[in-house]
Amino acid sequence: MEPLDCGAGRDLLRADLSAEGLEVVAAGIEAIWAHAALLPEEITPEHPGLAAEVFGSLAAAGRAEIDDQGRLAGVHGFSLRPTRHSFAHDGVAHHTWCAFDSVGIPAAFGIDAVATTDCPACGATLTVDIRNGAPEDSGIVLWLPVPDATSHLMAQFCANADLYCSRAHLEERVDVVGASGRVLTLAEAAELGRETWADVSHIEVASGGR
Ligand SMILES: [Zn+2]
Ligand SMILES: [Zn+2]
Repeated sequence: MEPLDCGAGRDLLRADLSAEGLEVVAAGIEAIWAHAALLPEEITPEHPGLAAEVFGSLAAAGRAEIDDQGRLAGVHGFSLRPTRHSFAHDGVAHHTWCAFDSVGIPAAFGIDAVATTDCPACGATLTVDIRNGAPEDSGIVLWLPVPDATSHLMAQFCANADLYCSRAHLEERVDVVGASGRVLTLAEAAELGRETWADVSHIEVASGGR
């Protein structure tokens, strides 16, 4: 795949995080992965102030979710909310902000998973079998938005990063010539996912399939 000129890849998630900030984010992902809604200071008790600051600024940029009780409810694509998109790993469903996340996260972690989402054109449920981080071959394609700015990741990127049954269904919904973005195969989406979550993919997650 040609390199992406902006928006996606490593820059999609980093948002200028320091090394310590990345540790805080990694701990947040572990909590969400375990379906635990925790206050920032409970996530990294050794850096309570930093955790509140990091998740607060990520939430303002649409890169984290804080619930009405002040607990971390989502970060870097992972969500405790029941969204349209998820991946199941080891018999447990994990919701994600977008379809790209549902394929890209298992790819980055190199795990077995089944991603589930739906096609915006026809409403069909789409599932993608992922083995050791590699998605099955199929005609399913991803619309990868490349927004001019990603000041709010969920609104400007995730809201439109959908999987479609086929390129034909994608073109029913997206003006691929005029809109800013690209059509990716599942293999390309997985490759971009590995790059996007590279900084946190060392996290120890549920055992099976690793
Ligand atoms: Zn469709
Ligand atoms: Zn997303």
